[in-house]
Amino acid sequence: MLYPNLLQPLDLGFTSLRNRVLMGSMHTGLEEEKNGWKKLAVFYRERAKGGVGLIVTGGIAPDRAGWVAPFSARMSNQKHVRNHRTVTDAVHEEGGKICMQILHSGRYGFHPLVVAPSAIKSPISPFKPRALSSRGIQKTIRHFIRAAQLAKEAGYDGVEVMGSEGYLINQFIVRHTNKRTDDWGGSYANRIKFPLEIVRQIRAAVGENFIIIYRLSMLDLIPDGSTWEEVVTLAKAIEKAGASIINTGIGWHEARVPTIATSVPRGAFTWVTKKMMGEVSIPLITTNRINTPEKAEEILAQNAADMVSMARPFLADAYFITKAQTNKSYLINTCIACNQACLDHVFKNKTASCLVNPSACRETEFSIKPTVNPKKIAVVGAGPAGLSAAVTMAQRGHQIELFEASGEIGGQFNMAKKIPGKQEFHETIRYFREQIRQLSITLHLNTPFTPETQKRDNFDEIVLATGVTPRKLSIKGINHSSVLGYKDVLSDGKMVGQKVAIIGAGGIGFDVAEFLVEDHHASDYKHFSKEWGIDLEYREAGGLQTPNKITPKRSVYLLQRSKGKVGAKLGKTTGWIHRATLKKRGVQMLSEVTYEKITDEGLHVLLKGKPTVLEVDNIIICAGQVSNKDLESPLKAIGATVHIIGGADFAAELDAKRAIEQGMKLGIKI
Ligand code: FAD
Ligand code: NAP
Ligand code: SF4
Repeated sequence: MLYPNLLQPLDLGFTSLRNRVLMGSMHTGLEEEKNGWKKLAVFYRERAKGGVGLIVTGGIAPDRAGWVAPFSARMSNQKHVRNHRTVTDAVHEEGGKICMQILHSGRYGFHPLVVAPSAIKSPISPFKPRALSSRGIQKTIRHFIRAAQLAKEAGYDGVEVMGSEGYLINQFIVRHTNKRTDDWGGSYANRIKFPLEIVRQIRAAVGENFIIIYRLSMLDLIPDGSTWEEVVTLAKAIEKAGASIINTGIGWHEARVPTIATSVPRGAFTWVTKKMMGEVSIPLITTNRINTPEKAEEILAQNAADMVSMARPFLADAYFITKAQTNKSYLINTCIACNQACLDHVFKNKTASCLVNPSACRETEFSIKPTVNPKKIAVVGAGPAGLSAAVTMAQRGHQIELFEASGEIGGQFNMAKKIPGKQEFHETIRYFREQIRQLSITLHLNTPFTPETQKRDNFDEIVLATGVTPRKLSIKGINHSSVLGYKDVLSDGKMVGQKVAIIGAGGIGFDVAEFLVEDHHASDYKHFSKEWGIDLEYREAGGLQTPNKITPKRSVYLLQRSKGKVGAKLGKTTGWIHRATLKKRGVQMLSEVTYEKITDEGLHVLLKGKPTVLEVDNIIICAGQVSNKDLESPLKAIGATVHIIGGADFAAELDAKRAIEQGMKLGIKI
């Protein structure tokens, strides 16, 4: 067995988990959708079938005040019990186990009913909370207990009490948000009474044979957070109060430290759980940026935890565990931690899905059925769109030939993977490479498709996924030797001087800037922690320290014509990380720039109307793209049936999420 620690059962006394993997809590949005519970049941059924040891649902509020957003899912009456039953039945039918997470958002709620220990507004919600009265606190505790009892009635194997990430329970624990002077505030013993009462009373209400996971904020990453000694005290008290397992929580949502983005090294926070090992006798779960069986096994083998939690990796691949069990981890569709289709969706009130697996949370819409009419199909272009279409059509039984003009598959992902902190993009290319092999897709590398190819091979249908070409600009002096395109820099390795101006501050402009200013990426957690001010010695409350100063490799201007914040259109949950990373490296991000001309002196611009010369060695154009669909007309002219997807279809606002989804949708339909 390749993963002896990971695949070992975990004995909890009254029950046993089939392996050491927890599918961590994720809100999907289906909880609130019409007929969403049926879809949710299919979603969880797939993951249970895929062999995961224990599933935790997305956060379910114990009452209205605990909603994350208006009308979020609740567990407070029999109607809710019936909804949840569909989920627990589905999971149990597949031999899985599932716990319901009870989450009270406290001051993080995005609605006017919000409550908190003290009336202090959070920096991430516009709603100022009402301070709970003493009776209000007792009532809230009763609602937690009621939610746990109803969860048991609905067939859950247990509950997870959400005590981290800055939600209500966490707000009681630290002075930062708890300024109370009664029995629920002041001393640490008073501040932790709220979680302890919740766990103690749940245990009393549900009996011994029911899992209680407590998600403990082991590292708050906010000023005035808990000290390590306090965290250990709480862990011990939680064990005594009756919890079966302690899960690790890292960072409040308002913390200015990345905790799960792709630039966070794999397993970067495992050291925190490891520090807790031995302090309690119940099992500990570690979390954050663990996305392969290899990493998970390594963590468990080092005795850094008893169990590993992965959440997004199960959006990316429901069959993660089965593939690991059969020694086929190379077939896993790995989560690249981009957040683009999961967290970014949830924060925009859209149903979650996955960039690399568009069928996640949409299993019923994206079901891949065998074709009754197998065809011989050419896919032109092995970028994300073409790869996704080719794989889906081959899975359905079509005969696929994939033509790629360059010497490798992956399209623009071959540039993305070179950006510091985006190494995970290698995994998506690896996944597709393996799928091509498994599905016997005929791959023609270094083979541009032409109308002659069609005349020779006479394909039934052709899928054009030829992507995009960089937009050409008409600034005076654009042919100056100092001007480069992003492909020159990222694909062709052209030399770049010390002083650089980047025209265009979209996703690619930001990535090129990071590529140019990073000396070496913080790929190990120690380097990463120093950069973001995480104290691995945990000397101060909250675990923060002054971040390291960084000497940038180059001096860079990142420019855009439009008004407003540079990079405003970057991902909702990751844009701030990109901006902060560049700021730390002295990149000057300028908006309202008019490009006048390029000369030996550099780039002549108007900065908010003021003439300025940016004296730079190189100017790099990252000004968007246009579709590359030159083949469409000649192919149609010879009578071919042509479908166009990805960047070739529409270049504006193109990203890999759309490219892969469009490829899969076409593949299902054809
Ligand atoms: P492409 O990836 O452009 O692929 C088209 C393929 O077609 C190419 O391999 C090309 O060689 C081939 N081709 C063209 N003509 C022919 C022909 N006649 N015959 C055979 N083959 C042909 N997106 C995100 O969502 N998230 C990110 O974080 C992200 N980061 C990025 C970072 C960088 C540096 C870059 C450059 C892009 C990034 N993108 C990102 C954008 C993303 O990569 C694109 O949206 C996606 O690759 C578009 O997919 P596609 O298949 O339509 O086109
Ligand atoms: P983009 O996001 O559309 O950005 C293009 C930039 O060029 C904008 O800043 C635009 O700003 C500028 N521009 C457009 N036309 C111009 C012109 N004629 N002259 C000068 N400047 C011009 O495109 P991209 O950066 O090329 O990225 C392509 C796609 O890949 C994007 O959709 C993006 O989502 C995706 N991507 C995503 C990530 C990620 O981290 N999620 C990373 C990389 C790429 P002004 O018009 O204000 O000047
Ligand atoms: Fe992972 Fe990105 Fe998919 Fe989210 S969208 S699960 S971060 S690959």
